Amino acid sequence: MPLIDYSVADGVCVLRLNAPPFNWITLPLLDELRVAVRRANLDAEVRRLVIMGDAGRFSAGAEVALFRDIRSAEDAVRISRIFQEAFQEIEDSAKPVVAAVAGKTPGGALELALACHGRVCEPGTLFSMPEVTLGINPGAGGTQRLPRLMGVEPALNLLLTGQALNANAALALGLVDAVCAADDLVRCASAVETLRKTRERTDRIADRSANEAALAAAVQHDAATGRPEFVAPSAIIEAVRTGLSESFEAGLRAEQEQFARCMATPATRNKIYVFFARGDLAKVRDMSGISARAVTRVAVIGMGSMGVGIAQAVMQAGLPVTVTDADPSALENGRQRIRESLEKRVAQGRLSPERLTKMLTLFSATTDWQEIGRADLVIEAVFEDVAVKRTVLGQAGRAVSDHAMIASNTSTISLDTLAEGVKRPERFVGLHFFNPAQVMPLLEVIRRDGTSAETVASAMQFAKTLGKTPILVRNREGFVVNRIFIPYLKEAFSLLEDGAEASAIDQAMVAFGFPMGPLTLIDMAGIDILALTDAVLRRAFPWHGDLSAIVAAMVEGGWLGQKRGAGVYLYASGNRERRDNPAAQEIFAAERQRAGKLPRTVGAEEITQRLIMRMVAEAFRVLEEGLAQRESDIDAAMVLGSGFPDWRGGGLKYARDLGLENVLRQLEMLEKQLGKRFAPCKMLREIKGT
Ligand code: NAD
Repeated sequence: MPLIDYSVADGVCVLRLNAPPFNWITLPLLDELRVAVRRANLDAEVRRLVIMGDAGRFSAGAEVALFRDIRSAEDAVRISRIFQEAFQEIEDSAKPVVAAVAGKTPGGALELALACHGRVCEPGTLFSMPEVTLGINPGAGGTQRLPRLMGVEPALNLLLTGQALNANAALALGLVDAVCAADDLVRCASAVETLRKTRERTDRIADRSANEAALAAAVQHDAATGRPEFVAPSAIIEAVRTGLSESFEAGLRAEQEQFARCMATPATRNKIYVFFARGDLAKVRDMSGISARAVTRVAVIGMGSMGVGIAQAVMQAGLPVTVTDADPSALENGRQRIRESLEKRVAQGRLSPERLTKMLTLFSATTDWQEIGRADLVIEAVFEDVAVKRTVLGQAGRAVSDHAMIASNTSTISLDTLAEGVKRPERFVGLHFFNPAQVMPLLEVIRRDGTSAETVASAMQFAKTLGKTPILVRNREGFVVNRIFIPYLKEAFSLLEDGAEASAIDQAMVAFGFPMGPLTLIDMAGIDILALTDAVLRRAFPWHGDLSAIVAAMVEGGWLGQKRGAGVYLYASGNRERRDNPAAQEIFAAERQRAGKLPRTVGAEEITQRLIMRMVAEAFRVLEEGLAQRESDIDAAMVLGSGFPDWRGGGLKYARDLGLENVLRQLEMLEKQLGKRFAPCKMLREIKGT
């Protein structure tokens, strides 16, 4: 099968990318494209070329797998040069070439379009240059052609944020020449009148002082918000600058060199590692011959923080949802909260008013179990209490038909403990959403030994229907994310007890790369939740040790966090700005004294080491116990579920980068000083040499 379809009608040669479903730009596709462009130039019938994909998608860009094979600076330069030369050949075509673009058009796909002499797109097209989010600069001429086409400031904006530009904005900025209906793309592309080589354009880059100002602003923004580990923004700025101050060709060379520079950094390599790890998450091993059963109607039991978010996620996926709660007022409340949240999306332009109206009709509330029984998936999201959950799961099991699935959203409780009350345990599965459920991308799908393969396949499929990234994990208290993350939060309280300042703990983790510190986060989730979840984990894993008495004292004092206006920090009403909470600080000091600890200064280094190594120790245990399908699944789950910085690759990759010998030494030292919770597991001791 050719990767490029060649057809000619009325003097127009359509070169259709034929690598479904994504039309990734691979090296073989580039080769065929070059051959096709040459052929069209020799074809007497052809007056104009149109490069396009199919109605819904032009191309998803350069195949990211190419990055996996880059081992050296030479490899990076070579790959970049191959793309640049291929696109240059298109731009050099004697007969005009127009790109007819549709769908999401990121990175290399946009760079291909930029090398054409004109561009048209359908109304739903989204243009973006997401390379920066992977830690690299575009390497196929994007840093050179974009400024020439749309001006330096808007080009830098696109290149440095990775954000998408819609069709109308692209038209207004001069990125495309026309927007037309998807089924009219070829005619529209044939009608573009002004056709020019992008690299020869100077009209948008003529104002030198404006160019300098845009570059200076970009440098300043990077200095203020970037991190020294991320070189992609400065690489992009450098390539753009060289292209402007020297020449287009010098700019292309700078692009190659900067690409090699980015690829040589650990931060970029780790981002790419996480990119692939995320892609692997949804792949379930040993499922051949097993088909998923589609979920068409969902019921959610418990309209608390989680139930409301889960119901909304289901509605956003276009599925009907019936909800119930023991507390009738929770039903109306839930409906109201979902409506408000969706209305906010409409106000932000992320949802059309028509879709909102349609979505709201998908919601129904009931107190009748027969109604619940009509669902083919029931998700339980009641209190984290074994007895309450067992009762509810029992009721659900009796109400539903034989083929229905029943799921629990428990954060920590072993599904084996809950399965006792379930009528058809083979159709029982864990669906652990993260808060807020309508937003967070990760969904842990938990299988027990008794869960059927069909149920696993159906649950994974359902997660994808919701637009979530599912990770399949085996059943054990806390599963993967909480099993690793709760000990980290818990360690933050041990550090408080030892004398560390709350703000120093949070700052250390932000400096490490987390979006927020552990104490800020626990204030958001509720300090009582930590006490509850830790109790389950500690029973299952005794080496986790005691939770600092600070937590119980805070709960007893009602300092539960943001929901009460104060926790570790004080929150001014109505906003999330925080200040130190003197009452909490008194509790820290009193509990420190009660534990017989002398006040001491705990520095950032100790804070970071203890918090991160606590996670690393637990992540290796999760690996040892075979709870995840692959090592990289654990890393991806840490990134998506707990905010571990992707550029450090997740906890296990971070440990491997540090060197397992080194990690082992640190853990042994911490174990000696602080106790068994830091003890390296057997597997870590054995694999350290590998
Ligand atoms: P919540 O206390 O906000 O809500 C629980 C809801 O369940 C309440 O509205 C309550 O009235 C209702 N309920 C209690 N008993 C019931 C019964 N017998 N029948 C019907 N409804 C009943 O709790 P939440 O934070 O939404 O947590 C719910 C579940 O989700 C828990 O298992 C929790 O561990 C898990 N979870 C919570 C989070 C989180 O961040 N809050 C994250 C992931 C998972």
